[in-house]
Amino acid sequence: MSGAASTPAPVGAGTGDAMPAALAPSPELARLAELVRQARSVVALTCAGISVPSGIPDFRTPRTGLWERVDPMEVAHIDAFREDPVRFWSFYGERFASLGGKRPNGAHAALAALERRGLLDAVITQNIDMLHRRAGTRELVEVHGSIATGSCPRCGDAAAAVELAEVRARLAADAEGVPRCERCRGPLKPDVVLFGELLPVAALERARELCERADVLLCVGSSLEVHPVASLPLLTSEAGGAVAIITQGPTPLDGVADVRLHGDVVAELEGLLGALGHG
Ligand SMILES: [Zn+2]
Repeated sequence: MSGAASTPAPVGAGTGDAMPAALAPSPELARLAELVRQARSVVALTCAGISVPSGIPDFRTPRTGLWERVDPMEVAHIDAFREDPVRFWSFYGERFASLGGKRPNGAHAALAALERRGLLDAVITQNIDMLHRRAGTRELVEVHGSIATGSCPRCGDAAAAVELAEVRARLAADAEGVPRCERCRGPLKPDVVLFGELLPVAALERARELCERADVLLCVGSSLEVHPVASLPLLTSEAGGAVAIITQGPTPLDGVADVRLHGDVVAELEGLLGALGHG
């Protein structure tokens, strides 16, 4: 409830044992903790920034690695998959390999801990990296799908989804480096939303529902520039809920935010957990 936003929160209250000593939460963080305490429903919306501390670069910020050599809009495009699956998989296979060994960080763990404590209803994520799942989040809405499985577009539901390890095994065994459907030998497609594809309707609908009834929406590690996900905080705000934006760098929705935290996502979410104390 945004009506609670004017209530000043006690600073330094409830610092838990898990927190480093002598770190009183900032006034903004204490305020967010108070909003979370009073909310009936808290939901998190996460984007690439939450996985950066796990060593996964945000490809929309061209810097390093894979994304320096290729244009993701071109190579991770549904047309590229359809027209040249060998080239598509030469790129995507590398991406699979690089994501395979990544570990969840303290920000993923903090959200999973909030859920275990009954303080968080769900995580909506744009990320395909499976790190929320690995951190233990149970109620997870992956609006861009995930690398957890691949499927055959030709066979559709007639062929079962293939687990990540098996996709990688087939990729390694194929002469052209393309993981193939056992039924029709066609190329498997990772179950992620590629450029040029629509978001899955059911996942997006679930995300909208969660945001509409959230009393607090925690937007974590997102520049909130990619639609339609970037418009989700407006659903919360328009329904009278509070929006907290936890990310470094400005976002177009900063004016809508009830709480704005600019620090490192791991430090801020661990700080929130600490400010909420135990129990
Ligand atoms: Zn097939």
